[in-house]
Amino acid sequence: MLLSGGLDSLVAAKLLLDQGIELEGLNFTSPFCTCGGAAGGCAAATRSAKQLGIPLKIVAKGMDYLQIVEHPKHERGRALNPCIDCRIYALKKAKEYCKEVDADFIATGEVAGQRPMSQTRYKLQLIEKEAGLDGLVVRPLSAKLLPPTIPEQKGLVDREKLLAVGGRGRKTQMELAKKNNYGYDCPAGGCLLTEREYSRKLVDLFEHKPYSLRDVLLLRIGRHYRLNEKAKVVLGRNEAENALLQKMTGDNALLEPDFPAPTALVTRKASRALGEAAWLVLKHAKKKGRLLCEGKEIIPVEPPSCKRL
Ligand code: SF4
Repeated sequence: MLLSGGLDSLVAAKLLLDQGIELEGLNFTSPFCTCGGAAGGCAAATRSAKQLGIPLKIVAKGMDYLQIVEHPKHERGRALNPCIDCRIYALKKAKEYCKEVDADFIATGEVAGQRPMSQTRYKLQLIEKEAGLDGLVVRPLSAKLLPPTIPEQKGLVDREKLLAVGGRGRKTQMELAKKNNYGYDCPAGGCLLTEREYSRKLVDLFEHKPYSLRDVLLLRIGRHYRLNEKAKVVLGRNEAENALLQKMTGDNALLEPDFPAPTALVTRKASRALGEAAWLVLKHAKKKGRLLCEGKEIIPVEPPSCKRL
């Protein structure tokens, strides 16, 4: 059962459990999840699995997923979100896991017609076909609106006990959750790839290779500026972000003010880039003071060009 941590997969799983079907939850995390945290596992999915009383396996989408985000085969949504390719990726991973645990089929909380890009009946079929799972994906909420799947034909799943929910409304799902006393934090899940502002920063990263998973995670924090082909600066917007930048410095340079001002992470240790970053910090500070990098004072230099991402 692909368990997103949202409402739909929670109640869809319950419909199968009520038939006595044994389930295991599979949750995918990525640096783009806004529902329960980035690569550290999805708190909402963990809560769903607990309420359902089923085991949960969390799979972190890695660099292979980033390749897909950068070069999707199918169209994107309103921002960088490659929803069709993303669903195909998840189903392919689920298929591999099915082999490992000898599972009979995959189920999802998808609802026909809920999302115009990836959940029209045609798209649902296209996605399972491209994942090599033709007829093997059960969607309990919309099953009666879709052709019978192989598990239904084989009698592993009783189609009569599944639903015919379609469209964007979530009334039926909410009623089912209420009836079972289920709580849910994230009705529809959340994905940064659907946000244009975030997508701009990601495109910049794609244009400046190589990049790492840490670089992608950094996009969630602070104000980002591109100084030149090689150097980028991230300024913390508050104390919490300043502390996070300290933790995520890695091989980058960290510019720390000895007065109330943003901390800056700089992707290049060259003194010119550090000076330009110091200038940016001062632009965002109400007071003046010293800026230090590895104990050395950095002298601010106005950058010839600086683009806010
Ligand atoms: S919104 Fe994001 S997580 Fe959801 S299918 Fe689209 S790309 Fe994947």
